Amino acid sequence: MPKNPTAKLLTEIYERLVKQNGLRNWWPVKHNAGANAGFEITAGAILVQNTSWRNASRALENLNSAGIWGYRAIHECAVDDLVEAIRSSGYYNTKSKKLKAFAQVVVEDFNGNDSELFALSIPELRERLLGIYGIGEETSDDIILYAAKKPSFVVDAYTRRVVDRIGIKIDGNRYSDYQEIFEANLKPDVELWGELHAQLDGHAARVCTKRDPRCGECVLVDLCDTRASRHLG
Ligand code: SF4
Repeated sequence: MPKNPTAKLLTEIYERLVKQNGLRNWWPVKHNAGANAGFEITAGAILVQNTSWRNASRALENLNSAGIWGYRAIHECAVDDLVEAIRSSGYYNTKSKKLKAFAQVVVEDFNGNDSELFALSIPELRERLLGIYGIGEETSDDIILYAAKKPSFVVDAYTRRVVDRIGIKIDGNRYSDYQEIFEANLKPDVELWGELHAQLDGHAARVCTKRDPRCGECVLVDLCDTRASRHLG
């Protein structure tokens, strides 16, 4: 039976996953990009599209090692060098164009400083990001939440899977319908939203897997409609 997406239910899910897994402290930042503290996150948000974080992370390390680090460096480097550095992330020709497009906006429209871009209000920032080549809703919200540190809940395939399987009531199938579940019921807390998104992703990747979810070891099992229908546990 579908469950209303109450703050109580979402908080219970959050607390159980954190208790099980510990804090994930997402999004990881390893290298200094000077004044542009958001660079590693924005570049990572583009590189992780359609691939694993492991592959995206390797591409980030290669970019850093190659000295292509920061918006201005991306903007000014040769395309071939950029493609070579991000090869591990897959779709490298397209992703190099996306990185170049993003860097061009920061360099030419915001004085090379992402804090000027991130100073926009959430609706303005979202609209600006969605207007950049290669930035869709999920990537936009990754950047708003983790780089700009403003509350915009990130929805991805993992989030949808856990929400659907638990049986949380939802009024549609659009990105915004899933986002609304969290944004309408949880206080706008950047740390909480960032951690909850990361916990849901980790849970979907390791336990609530696409095929053969491991319901027998799931800490959400008594909250979940799918488990009930599978007669597991
Ligand atoms: S009980 Fe099974 S289907 Fe439900 S959330 Fe847990 S792993 Fe996923």
